[in-house]
Amino acid sequence: MPQRPLHPRSLAAQAMGKIDPLTRGVVPPIHVSTTYIRDPDNAYSSGFVYGRPDNETVREAESVLAMLEEAPAGALLFGSGMAAATAVFQALSPGDHVVASKVMYWALRAWLLTEATRWGLKIDFVETDDLDALRAAVKPGVTRLVWAETPSNPLWTITDIAAAAEIAHAAGAKLAVDSTCASPVHTRPLTLGADIVMHAATKVLNGHSDVVAGALCAREDDAFWNGIKTVRKMQGGILGPFEAYLLMRGMRTLHLRQERQAASAMALAQRLSAHPLVARVLYPGLPQHPGHDIAARQMQNGFGYMLSVQVTGGEKAAIASAAQVELYKRATSLGGVESLIEHRASIEGEGSPCPTDLLRLSTGIEDVEDLYADLDQALTFGHR
Ligand code: PLP
Repeated sequence: MPQRPLHPRSLAAQAMGKIDPLTRGVVPPIHVSTTYIRDPDNAYSSGFVYGRPDNETVREAESVLAMLEEAPAGALLFGSGMAAATAVFQALSPGDHVVASKVMYWALRAWLLTEATRWGLKIDFVETDDLDALRAAVKPGVTRLVWAETPSNPLWTITDIAAAAEIAHAAGAKLAVDSTCASPVHTRPLTLGADIVMHAATKVLNGHSDVVAGALCAREDDAFWNGIKTVRKMQGGILGPFEAYLLMRGMRTLHLRQERQAASAMALAQRLSAHPLVARVLYPGLPQHPGHDIAARQMQNGFGYMLSVQVTGGEKAAIASAAQVELYKRATSLGGVESLIEHRASIEGEGSPCPTDLLRLSTGIEDVEDLYADLDQALTFGHR
């Protein structure tokens, strides 16, 4: 690789430019060994001891993500987004106080309310996009972690990362950001003051709906980050080498996919805003979105691939419209090259802040005219 600085998209396209030393292959081999030879003097000079903490393919994928997120302390891959997110909370101690976004990935909220609470964490949920509410919720010297998801699933509220970091740090807490729906193409939370960034790498980082994976990146190589490393190493929530290889292949095209997906999401948001059967479009790229000004500041290259619509006919029409799609796939998840639609309230159940007339749309890379035409006919038939 040239010595001069390269843009992230160049480094990602070549997965950091690593060449296989044996064959000169431009794609490094997948390392599958679970154990490594010890030196005659009993040391492990290779730095590889055992497959649970140590795998070269995983480390190569981690180096791509650490570069993309501008993470000085590096990245850690996990077996799922949930494994990554829960590792952050498990690095805290029973009795520690946490403030977390009210609107967030529903399964993590459910885990926090059950398992994490049972384990002794004290958790307050606030709208982290409301900085006064966040300021009022943190307890100086007591709160150890603020967890914010932005844009938040499925309402796409925007938390001001720099301001939230200031509030967390003033109270002596860390700020962790679930940036799954922004991706490093749009936002790099560590550069805005966050301490930890989390990804469900299952989504747009891999981008092809064929890998379940999670990731954390950190700004500082401190005791908290080392505690998280210990959680992964000891609990074993690791990513296998084949999945790490696929994830690395996915990240080579991240910029291309993301820019296309964000451009299509914006076009759909604008056109759906004028659709007679759509009551409201939730997308941070729209000027009328309450978080638009902050999003315009902290997001680049567009506003992401996720949007939601609230339909005029209420819950029944929302479910009926989702039933009519022909091109969109009616499925949970997000971030793949294929567009997905989901009636989110049905999945999230009781206690969810998701309105019942809401359909969540994950925008893929199909032709945007085809996507709009599909939604238009689905809304029309769904409201009959
Ligand atoms: N965070 C967000 C925003 C998500 O959308 C998801 C999954 O949908 C997760 C975390 C959990 O990731 P995983 O399904 O890989 O465990």
